[in-house]
Amino acid sequence: MSDKFDVIVIGAGPAGYVAAIRAAQLGLKTACVDAFTGKDGKQALGGTCLNVGCIPSKALLDSSKQFHNLTHNFAVHGISADNPKIDVATFIGRKDKIVKQFTGGIGQLFKANKVTPYYGTGKLLKGNNVEITAADGSKQTISATNVILASGSVPIELPFAKFDGKMIVDNAGALDFTEVPKRLGVIGAGVIGLELGSVWKRLGSDVTILEALPDFLSVADADVAKIAAKEFAKQGLAIKLGAKLTKAEVKKNEVALTYEDKDGVHELVVDKLLVAVGRRAYTTGLLADDTGVKLDERGRIVVDAHNHTGVDGVWAIGDAVRGPMLAHKGSEEGVAVAEWIAGKAGHINLDTVPWVIYTEPEIAWAGKTEKELKEAGIPYKVGTFPFAAIGRAVAMNEAIGQVKIIAHAETDRLLGAHMVGPGVSELIAEAVVTMEFKGSAEDLARIVHAHPTLSEAVHEAALSVDKRAIHKGN
Ligand code: FAD
Ligand code: AMP
Repeated sequence: MSDKFDVIVIGAGPAGYVAAIRAAQLGLKTACVDAFTGKDGKQALGGTCLNVGCIPSKALLDSSKQFHNLTHNFAVHGISADNPKIDVATFIGRKDKIVKQFTGGIGQLFKANKVTPYYGTGKLLKGNNVEITAADGSKQTISATNVILASGSVPIELPFAKFDGKMIVDNAGALDFTEVPKRLGVIGAGVIGLELGSVWKRLGSDVTILEALPDFLSVADADVAKIAAKEFAKQGLAIKLGAKLTKAEVKKNEVALTYEDKDGVHELVVDKLLVAVGRRAYTTGLLADDTGVKLDERGRIVVDAHNHTGVDGVWAIGDAVRGPMLAHKGSEEGVAVAEWIAGKAGHINLDTVPWVIYTEPEIAWAGKTEKELKEAGIPYKVGTFPFAAIGRAVAMNEAIGQVKIIAHAETDRLLGAHMVGPGVSELIAEAVVTMEFKGSAEDLARIVHAHPTLSEAVHEAALSVDKRAIHKGN
């Protein structure tokens, strides 16, 4: 037994590294074990999110947006450029630099907070011991009073379209293409498929997204999904709904796809295929047989409302447990668990976790949809406001979409906010704060919002709940 800690965290993604830092801040002797290897062959902290998820995708989304604006949207401002080009090596290199900056930053934060990092695969043994296997196969065992499992998730693989890292890729592969594929196939019109499909479409790929479900973005508000679908179609993203991939065959430099929809069986040939059909909790090799930690029918670690596994001193957080697979959800669980371990009052409210899709237009929501409220029999009222009537959005030439605010019909309490349009990834925070403080539409309506800003759409939508928006007919 080489070392004894108060807390060992297995996994250094946004759930695990945040838990480790918060535990250390609270005076607990903390270690964090992670196996992720970066492009340079060295340990890269930060998990999926920093290495092959949130951060690199946003870097590429931003670069590709600049290119798309230059080639499509600048003329209206009187700006033109001759023959604009994208250098893919620079485009990817910039993303890699940002990833390195942030993964390296976690190492510095660990140092500053005296978190001990271990590089290797951690396995929970009975009695809260953790066996760490390094890349060379060498093993050591450390122990702690508390172990936090934060092993994250991995992409789901389709048995008939297995990842080969070259022609059929997952998110990591689609963040590292060395050239713009002429024809890109994307399976799954979820968050990842839409974001990465957008990146390559903006650089000139012919992108076809196949989605098995008949409805577009069925997790989102129906109006939001409708507006977004229309905008994506205008951008030339071909999204085929009710289209289920059944076969993908790699042939030399192409991938031949077979998919089925209500009209029958179809063929589609692409140069690269991104399979983005969801992610599953990753627990391979994480648990010795006799730990007592349970997995549910979807392979997720079973936890209670306090992220406790039911095994003394063993907790689990992030993508590896129930709830939305989002970085900030995992991070907040990490903070809460560290605080519960330290005997403090941790807090996590899964009902107010905001969702954001970083496409153009952006999509963001928090709380309940109208559909969910209808199903639950909760009476509600709705206010909406279009960005077309927001001066700032028009000045930006981005007057697309709307804000929808849903409040309880009797108490006026804010139940949901659903936004599609410019900057809504930032605007959603106001609705989340209001919901977390159990505020009402009236509260939002009575708060001064700066003019001219995009946030006026939230203000006006809140006013519109009681049919008193100023800048539209009610
Ligand atoms: P992970 O980030 O998956 O980290 C788990 C870590 O644990 C990994 O480093 C893994 O190697 C390590 N590990 C696993 N098992 C072991 C073991 N036994 N021993 C040692 N180490 C182990 N979410 C957002 O909120 N916003 C976004 O914009 C966003 N964009 C995304 C874009 C893409 C392309 C993808 C794929 C995901 C995106 N996500 C986004 C989701 C987000 O990345 C995840 O929700 C988040 O990373 C989950 O955090 P986590 O700490 O639970 O797990
Ligand atoms: P998400 O879970 O948000 O990443 O979205 C993944 C999407 O992939 C879901 O909307 C699924 O319906 C879709 N999907 C899953 N399997 C297939 C398939 N074989 N063909 C097309 N779409 C699929």
